[in-house]
Amino acid sequence: MQPAATLTAPAIELNGVSVRFMSERREVTALEDISFSLDTGTFLTLLGPSGCGKSTLLRVVADIIAPTSGRVRVLGQAPRDARRRREIGFVFQDSTLLPWRSAIDNVRLPLQVGGGSPMRGSRGAEELLALVGLAGWEKALPRELSGGMRQRVSIARALLGDPKILLMDEPFGALDEITRDRLNDELLHIWRETGTTILFVTHSIHEAAYLGQQVLMLAAAPGRVRRMVTIDLPEPRHLAIRDTAEFGALAGRLRAVLETC
Ligand code: ADP
Ligand code: MG
Repeated sequence: MQPAATLTAPAIELNGVSVRFMSERREVTALEDISFSLDTGTFLTLLGPSGCGKSTLLRVVADIIAPTSGRVRVLGQAPRDARRRREIGFVFQDSTLLPWRSAIDNVRLPLQVGGGSPMRGSRGAEELLALVGLAGWEKALPRELSGGMRQRVSIARALLGDPKILLMDEPFGALDEITRDRLNDELLHIWRETGTTILFVTHSIHEAAYLGQQVLMLAAAPGRVRRMVTIDLPEPRHLAIRDTAEFGALAGRLRAVLETC
């Protein structure tokens, strides 16, 4: 029987995924035998040391690279089909805005990039800028914005077309702690507003635990799953929760696992 893929399938599913790179005649196993499944609407954080394959995992889901072996499904489809249907939004660590375009024109950029289905989506560029807290900044150029504001523009752009999946590769890694905290809270707000499934890469234990409903912990060399941890913190979360003993104990447990990664 043919399953109704998009209704019943997990948002993201990896089965035995391995990725090997050839570099300078040396073979690097970036990911080895990765399997996990993510329900629609979940916020998953991906935590692990540098070089454990976090970015590679995101690129495999986004159809930027193909796995050497194993199977990836995004909303029950091949990643390529999901990408063509514009089901996937991607936010990178460094803001990838075009310097000569205003904030709103940067958000609209995907409308002008060919390939794939026509852009749908209930929220226009202006509404998305408001959603990320940048109402009134539509005409500003990237150089007139702070690092945190530029990342907000990148998030608004990734949300154009209502993607069901949002992939974020250390999006706040280059920001100061205060800005990062604020954006963490705003991202949780956006997640609740949009219902998007989020896969968020970080190497911060606190960020992983604060944001994620689940934390996928990866070990390095080769990159493999160390543990999937469910985070049972009360919802909705607020930054003050990080001062509680409960959160401290949780962070301590994650740190102990990370030391074996
Ligand atoms: P992370 O994001 O967790 O820091 P990456 O996914 O960037 O890790 O990299 C995992 C491993 O794969 C590293 O050893 C890295 O050097 C290697 N790697 C990543 N991309 C390439 C590539 N395009 N060519 C060769 N090696 C790569
Ligand atoms: Mg990386």
